[in-house]
Amino acid sequence: TGSVAVTSGTRFDLDKETELRFEVEAGEKVQLELLSGLAEVFGSELNRNKKYTFGPGSKIAVFTWQGCSLSLTGKTEVAYISKDTPMLLYLNTHAALEQMRRQAERDNDRGPRVMVVGPTDVGKSTVCRLLLNYAVRLGRRPTLVELDVGQSSVSVPGTMSALYIERPADVEEGFSVQAPLVFHFGSTTPGTNIKLYNKLTSCLAEVFSQRCEVNRRASVGGCIINTCGWVKGSGYQALVHCASAFQVDVVLVLDQERLYNELKRDLPHFVRVVLLPKSGGVVERSKDCRRETRDEKIREYFYGFRGVSFYPHAFDVRFSDVRIYKIGAPSIPDSCLPLGMSQDDTQLKLVPVSPGRDLTHHVLSVSCAEDEGESGAGRGRGILESPVCGFIVVTAVDTQAQVMTVLSPAPRPLPRHTLLIMDIRFIDLK
Ligand code: ATP
Repeated sequence: TGSVAVTSGTRFDLDKETELRFEVEAGEKVQLELLSGLAEVFGSELNRNKKYTFGPGSKIAVFTWQGCSLSLTGKTEVAYISKDTPMLLYLNTHAALEQMRRQAERDNDRGPRVMVVGPTDVGKSTVCRLLLNYAVRLGRRPTLVELDVGQSSVSVPGTMSALYIERPADVEEGFSVQAPLVFHFGSTTPGTNIKLYNKLTSCLAEVFSQRCEVNRRASVGGCIINTCGWVKGSGYQALVHCASAFQVDVVLVLDQERLYNELKRDLPHFVRVVLLPKSGGVVERSKDCRRETRDEKIREYFYGFRGVSFYPHAFDVRFSDVRIYKIGAPSIPDSCLPLGMSQDDTQLKLVPVSPGRDLTHHVLSVSCAEDEGESGAGRGRGILESPVCGFIVVTAVDTQAQVMTVLSPAPRPLPRHTLLIMDIRFIDLK
């Protein structure tokens, strides 16, 4: 895998069931064109004689079932054809899921609920995208449940979400994110607040089940759940919790036999646990690379993506006009807890925060929770379980004047006044 500098249209001829893998160099762009035959990128079909552009750092596989010719223009870090892919196994997995959907249709039952698990960098998100694409291409309406709080494919990092899939992912941009249901988690690893993580998993499961009750196509389509790469200790327990909350029927374990055996042991016998190999093409990503991807995701939220530019707004928000919370009080020894209170309660507690300089650069979720008057009984629970309607970034805090300046996708005023602090920071360089 030496460095290949492809400058002007290099042609690649692929036999059937092979894939062209390439990575785009930092600061570069690469154009891909299908010259003849049929090919797909993670389950989305390519159109012939259309130029697809991939930005810096993209790691792409163009697979062909029938054989094809492709052209690549621009600087790639690597570009090679591989004959050794697990795509046939993935296709068979899809076929089995489709069988379950057919049966659900016949028996007036619900379609497959699938959880995709495995350590980091085994291609979980890619397998989810593939299975969703294959399902939607057959006219199904599956739901993507995104529980990876580090690298969400649906919303900004630090969120957990669900997206109803109505068309295949765009080759360049992924799934169209029109009306996702998004919950605030607040950090990039579930370990920061595992109680909250499990709680929000349950919330998503509940909302999904409610949708299935009123929407037959959603019910038959089932869901594909993408999870975090943290598969030990509480991370593992979170997977078991998810399986039970969603009542999953199928668990796809990528690349880790140990995890496969543990889940087979711990999940009810009717859950089908399947071990699948990872693709040799999946590229390991460094910590820095992950951080960059997260940053990029937030930048896209405010400034748009490729052809579509957004123009975010900057305005002042008076402290007195908003209520700012952090979820989870710092944990204290059990012996110091007030009588009748458990550690769980502290992790799910809404802690009011008075803004200070240290809030600068933090991402805040704007909760959809109804703005109520002064705190009433039970109000906190409502906020935790409410989806978010958007995000802002604090760019400056003036404690003297009691105002903060925020970056917002929409002009003032804020649509709601309950704000939840993320651990995640974004430095706006524009
Ligand atoms: P994480 O645990 O960090 O969420 P993951 O297991 O979900 O990672 P993916 O995001 O699916 O892994 O894949 C990692 C990277 O590898 C992505 O950039 C993806 O585009 C790329 N990739 C996946 N499959 C292939 C392949 N067959 N050839 C080339 N690149 C690939």
